[in-house]
Amino acid sequence: MGNSPHWQLLILDASAFIMGYEPSNIKTKQFSVPSVLRELIPESTPWIRFMIALEGCLLQVQAPTESYLKEVEKASVKVGEGKKLSDTDRDILALALELKDRGKEPVIVSDDYSIQNIAESKGIRYISLSTLGIRYLLKRTLYCPACYRRYPSSYISETCRVCGTKLRRRTTRKTLATRGEKGE
Ligand SMILES: [Zn+2]
Repeated sequence: MGNSPHWQLLILDASAFIMGYEPSNIKTKQFSVPSVLRELIPESTPWIRFMIALEGCLLQVQAPTESYLKEVEKASVKVGEGKKLSDTDRDILALALELKDRGKEPVIVSDDYSIQNIAESKGIRYISLSTLGIRYLLKRTLYCPACYRRYPSSYISETCRVCGTKLRRRTTRKTLATRGEKGE
């Protein structure tokens, strides 16, 4: 993906929140649908992320209108994805169509192949989470608790080569965000 693409708005499905998508890291306008919230487990981290974004007005939640749901239905049958779509998938796609009709440039954020397939057939752009540059990685660090020297995780010895203290491992979850925002 090139540098700083200018998407007008992003539409987020449940998997985005579950995979660790953080709306506050993104400057673009973001939309989702009520059925996404219903898919998230209340009080879970993805649910909390969703609610905070909603309350902070980073995220706009909107149910699609009936006529666009019908249009999605037709498109899904046409490309042979009809049975694979969940209600949430339909809502996401219908909202994208609706916003596009209103002159916006929606980009669906989803790793779901059926959604991507139908979006493509309707000329709607989509990206997967990794394309957006958001990944969660487990980062393992090996360090000396006495002198704080860091070692690569492939380091063979169990002790610090400078002060001889037994090394410790620490596993942290690290968000990697592109566009000059370092997660560290
Ligand atoms: Zn040391």
